[in-house]
Amino acid sequence: MKLHEYQAKAILSRYGIKIPLGHVASSPQEAQAATQAMGGKAVLKAQVHAGGRGKVGGVKVVQSPDEALQVAQAMLGKNLVTNQTGASGVPVNSLLVEELADIKRELYIAITIDRGFRGPVMIISAAGGMDIEEVSSTRPEDIHTEPIEPILGLMPFQTRRLVQKLGIEPAAARSAAQVMTSLYQIFVENDCSLVEINPLIITGDGQVIALDAKMDLEDDSLFRHADLHELRDRSQEDQLEAEAADLDIAYVNLEGDVGCLVNGAGLAMATLDVTNAAGAAPANFLDVGGGATDEKVAQAVEIILSDPKVKRVLVNVFGGILRCDVAARGVVIAYQRRNSNLPLVVRMLGTNLEEGKSILSESGLNVTFADTLTEAAQAIKQAI
Ligand code: GDP
Ligand code: MN
Repeated sequence: MKLHEYQAKAILSRYGIKIPLGHVASSPQEAQAATQAMGGKAVLKAQVHAGGRGKVGGVKVVQSPDEALQVAQAMLGKNLVTNQTGASGVPVNSLLVEELADIKRELYIAITIDRGFRGPVMIISAAGGMDIEEVSSTRPEDIHTEPIEPILGLMPFQTRRLVQKLGIEPAAARSAAQVMTSLYQIFVENDCSLVEINPLIITGDGQVIALDAKMDLEDDSLFRHADLHELRDRSQEDQLEAEAADLDIAYVNLEGDVGCLVNGAGLAMATLDVTNAAGAAPANFLDVGGGATDEKVAQAVEIILSDPKVKRVLVNVFGGILRCDVAARGVVIAYQRRNSNLPLVVRMLGTNLEEGKSILSESGLNVTFADTLTEAAQAIKQAI
């Protein structure tokens, strides 16, 4: 689960990291008033679950309350498309109005889980700011990764080394080290998968301030963070993925037109590979899980059918814990509820196979059976 910048900053602030004075506005008038309260100048920042805002007009400095009104009118209620969103972007429902900062240097600092190290790492760069992605691809030597031993935590010798690598002047060194220590504490205590401050700035008078903040929480730990869970903003999520998550169905929306219903994550991934290899493109990953009932299968198929880009459906079920007749019944229920006639290719194996096949055959749906995954992929290619 992602947090908005203003929500992440509130958490940083609670852990003692300095953030600019700010106010969240959801109307142009509020943005105007907040700018007035800040002395007439401010920076307006679109609150969306995506970075890369600065490059596409999602972060704007305004010189007067009237300008804030105009800029806020232009930003609010529109979708912002950045290099981290899909083509349709994400809706801007609120703006963070912040006091202007006196930026002398922009640094990058983040903590995430590194699969290679199998633990948390702190990533830093002296070349922080909006071009960090470019730095990481063209000058990887300017980015430093520091593994953190979970049992020990981030040690003082490490923060000293990192502060030195960033070339931070003595006046700001202590605060910068403190930001690193606090960031690790935030990462651990809130079960984050990512915390990122980009830029962490050094001001003209040597203050260290988080000018931006990104925080991703580990979904599987939300049950122990009720207060954080409340910060969820569904408007920023893919609507089908949010619906699937509510139903406890593992679903990822993809680009193609073949809706895929599979049980088991490994089988689901293999299904995507085979579909691609056959020259068709999957519209989604979907693992309905082992213990699904016909109603849960129906809900999963309904998510697939409600996706407008889906033109054909591939069902690949290994009837173990989920029996073939249950899967078949679920598919038929969903097609009937949605009144759909999209072509359906079914590959089923295992318990109650014959019963499952006859439920589908007798349903009147446009169904093609396949015995092997290769046959299924060939059939889906032709089913259009
Ligand atoms: P992102 O592009 O989505 O990561 O948004 P950021 O919050 O990082 O803002 C992008 C850039 O806007 C920063 O790197 C800064 O250079 C600039 N910026 C943000 N706040 C201020 C500010 O208060 N004053 C000035 N001059 N620039 C700012
Ligand atoms: Mn940023």
